Amino acid sequence: MSPPGNPRYAIHAEALRKRYREHHALDGFDLAVPPGTVYGLLGPNGAGKTTAVRILSTLLRPTGGRAEVAGFDVRSRPREVRRRIGLAGQYAAVDEVLTGRQNLVTFGRLFHLGKQPAHRRAAELLDRFGLTEAADQGVKGYSGGMRRRLDLAASMILAPQVLFLDEPTTGLDPRGRNEVWEAVRALVADGTTVLLTTQYLDEADRLADRIAVIERGRKIADDTPGGLKRAVGEARIEVVVRHAADLPAAVAALARVADAGAPPEADPAARRASAPVTDPVPALTGTARTLHGQGVELEDLGLRRPTLDEVFLRLTGRRPDRDAAGADHPERTDGPTAEPADPAAEPTDDKEAAEL
Ligand code: ATP
Repeated sequence: MSPPGNPRYAIHAEALRKRYREHHALDGFDLAVPPGTVYGLLGPNGAGKTTAVRILSTLLRPTGGRAEVAGFDVRSRPREVRRRIGLAGQYAAVDEVLTGRQNLVTFGRLFHLGKQPAHRRAAELLDRFGLTEAADQGVKGYSGGMRRRLDLAASMILAPQVLFLDEPTTGLDPRGRNEVWEAVRALVADGTTVLLTTQYLDEADRLADRIAVIERGRKIADDTPGGLKRAVGEARIEVVVRHAADLPAAVAALARVADAGAPPEADPAARRASAPVTDPVPALTGTARTLHGQGVELEDLGLRRPTLDEVFLRLTGRRPDRDAAGADHPERTDGPTAEPADPAAEPTDDKEAAEL
């Protein structure tokens, strides 16, 4: 680990563990996030993403291992960590009854900003997140995307070095997701380090410099989005012809656009041919044009991209279930007080950690 104040990594976790009775929510989790980057934590429900975020943001004490955020140990220096982080979750923490501006001013005051500075910061953040026009409207009239952007703004009141985003777009429509993605990109351009948890491969793909895939509390892959997708397979064009006799024509058309060294595959029983492509849009239009010109009747023509399921299938040899922990884990209990003492746990370093 590196000295506080000048950390090599904005987030650094080594062999992090969290146990609930016999159940390992985190089971030896390592992470090294360079400053100024976006790191995606990708995994199905119950994989351990929220547990990791809660430990790194000092809300939950690990059973073992260690972690530093902004150069400070999360267990022995939680106050130092909290001063430097922001946290925005799946459920917007903003107050429906207040306006956007009132929410941000209230958060500013809670963080001990004076009245004027709180108003100034609120105005800056409303502007930054494209909410100036709606600033004085009640939040209950906001769209889902606007609420999440306001939530992001609230987590940025103290301009944190490290921002934890726990499934920031779950439940949003495509427009809302895009709005949040834009807001996150703007933060990163200003130098904030972001740890983003998500169940969506495309979200991690668009935002993250690097992605850790987590399953059953363990990291099972850690790569750039490109590397991850290459491991899973590129996008494929799929053609289904109406008449079996046209299948060779479809294969030939696909061969013209397929990646070098990756010949099309044909499934005569399904009258289907497919091929991997790196530049999908021209490949798709080219294939459509060729086959149309030859009078080939199509039943279907489409682009298939690797899905999160396929990432998991490739990485683990099985499809992700919706609760990766299975049925044998204990009933969920809330808060660290419900945990039994763990004889294997490392000792707490000082009194401050008792506030966790
Ligand atoms: P989601 O996408 O559903 O939020 P996640 O990847 O964030 O999932 P976690 O919330 O970290 O997963 O949960 C990891 C595992 O630990 C799950 O099996 C969950 O049931 C279990 N777990 C989490 N908190 C507790 C708790 N307080 N008591 C018992 N088990 C818990």
